[in-house]
Amino acid sequence: MRSRRHTHNSADNSKPEADRILSIMFTQAKAQFGDAVKSFWFYEGELCPGCLARPIGVIKIKGENAVAINGFMYRPRGVLIGYFLCDTCANYIFKEAAKNPYKQTPLHADIERNLAEAYHKYMASLDA
Ligand SMILES: [Zn+2]
Repeated sequence: MRSRRHTHNSADNSKPEADRILSIMFTQAKAQFGDAVKSFWFYEGELCPGCLARPIGVIKIKGENAVAINGFMYRPRGVLIGYFLCDTCANYIFKEAAKNPYKQTPLHADIERNLAEAYHKYMASLDA
């Protein structure tokens, strides 16, 4: 485990907005997946779930700050997981999506594995 702490986390300011977006995503996921969606959870780790190396960031799109909020439907548990990425991963996905809008990138597989792991750790911490 890494022990480096970040005193400044740029995702904090956008948390209420993130909650709002996540609840919209949850509604949309309900429409798409129906009763398979049981709940939602927001990944609040300090490190980007894509690379596990850089802190979560706010990226600039066309000169405006945009929080790279994303959602992942973790089907085995019926949970919609919302997450932020670091600048580098967010820009990568943004560029790939511009080329192939509906194609998952290899980075998505890493993100989904890391998020599922973080979710399991979180659930285990509730039981402790
Ligand atoms: Zn990253």
